[in-house]
Amino acid sequence: MSAAIRTVNPATGQPLASYDTWDTARIEAAVERAHAASRAWALVPVAERAARVAHLARTLREHKDRLAHLAVTEMGKPVGEAEAEVEKSALTAEYYAERGPGILADEHVAIDGAEAWVAYEPAGLVLAVMPWNFPVWQVMRFAIPSLLAGNGVLLKHASNVTGGALALQDLIVEAGFPEHLVTTLVIADADVPDTTSRLIEDDRIAAVTLTGSNRAGAAVGSAAGRAAKKSVLELGGSDAFVVLDDADVGAAAAAAVRARFANSGQSCVCAKRFIVAEAVMDAFTTAFVAGVERLRIGDPHDRSTQVGPLARGDLREAIARQVEESVAAGARLLTGGKPLPGEGCFFQPTVLTDTGPGMAAFDEETFGPLAALAVARDDDDAARLADATSFGLGLSVWTADTGRGIALARRITSGAAFVNAVVASDPRLPFGGTKRSGYGRELAGAGIREFTNTRAYWVA
Ligand code: NAP
Repeated sequence: MSAAIRTVNPATGQPLASYDTWDTARIEAAVERAHAASRAWALVPVAERAARVAHLARTLREHKDRLAHLAVTEMGKPVGEAEAEVEKSALTAEYYAERGPGILADEHVAIDGAEAWVAYEPAGLVLAVMPWNFPVWQVMRFAIPSLLAGNGVLLKHASNVTGGALALQDLIVEAGFPEHLVTTLVIADADVPDTTSRLIEDDRIAAVTLTGSNRAGAAVGSAAGRAAKKSVLELGGSDAFVVLDDADVGAAAAAAVRARFANSGQSCVCAKRFIVAEAVMDAFTTAFVAGVERLRIGDPHDRSTQVGPLARGDLREAIARQVEESVAAGARLLTGGKPLPGEGCFFQPTVLTDTGPGMAAFDEETFGPLAALAVARDDDDAARLADATSFGLGLSVWTADTGRGIALARRITSGAAFVNAVVASDPRLPFGGTKRSGYGRELAGAGIREFTNTRAYWVA
């Protein structure tokens, strides 16, 4: 068993809390109870499951301030964004409470001489390995449809948001779900790879989902492969934000600032590479850098703050290394580029230009307040640069001609394409990646069906 988990406020460097990690016996008892709870839950009619999900929306709103406060103190996001994350979770619960039963309804198939239908039945108990960057939303995005589908959830949340993970477990019970149906496992460090592999092997666990880095995704995906279990992986991204020569440059630059610096730059679907047509490069760069320099960085509890600290010291070091290596490889620093002095994990909002393939800021995922600009000669060059990545999560294209934007999007591989809009998840649309951004989908109909048993019935 590893040492206790000690959470730290990344804005101040001050310790927050200490949580004893669980030994094997405690994990075993929790899995047994969770398995029993999920078997019983699978027999609850879908209409009743939907009523609990609707109640969950209300409970989330009642606890919005507390959940947001935990997110701000544990991982440092600005308070308004933390509240918005809880609200989005509540809206998603409402969406599934209303639409989920229809999506899960039996589909009758016309076959002569038989009554036949397709049923979407519960998969069972699902292990969910989750990241800290949207500590409420990432869990709810998976848990809401999964609970509605009749599954149980074993949650291995990121250790730096353990307080929030335990609060979510309690809140789900308060919303009327059975105890142990959602169980937060308190494990950390060296225990995590072994314990998750062991759980994936366990016959009581039906499937696994992971949202996180490629390194963790590879570990969980290979364990799922060895056990021949279903897995969904939502991994990193290096989304392109493409500005064509006919775009409204002012609108594109303002949107680009939001798209890159939301959540202090720590979102898988933050725009990370800005690929701009030569004709508008200067105008876009001037407006974008001015917007970045206006961002207010500071205390995430302060409502005027737009950029908070990074969630951990190692994430700040990674951004500093990416800036340094990219500049050494020929990128030019236009603004920022340095950590802020003091105890917190702050890093100046940073813009690099003249970037391209072969540079860390272009090739790697940049998970913090760092934007990489690259110039494109024409649409062909823009498509080539946008697609010159091992990731494939989202894409945003800016143009006065939406047909041209859609045509360009078709030439670039990604799980989502937005034209004249910033990439964002929405419960009504499926969300997920291609290439090294992972596989499987969350949200909408596709997301709820990922963890169901698509079962054929034939009654002669
Ligand atoms: P991370 O290290 O992969 O952590 C994510 C979760 O995986 C945590 O609960 C972590 O536990 C656990 N974990 C780490 N190593 C593991 C292993 N070998 N086996 C099983 N579980 C393991 O991720 P991060 O770097 O903190 O988070 C940022 C990453 O998540 C970025 O790459 C980001 O793009 C990605 N992300 C993707 C999406 C999406 O929807 N595609 C959304 C959000 C974030 P501990 O905390 O205990 O280490």
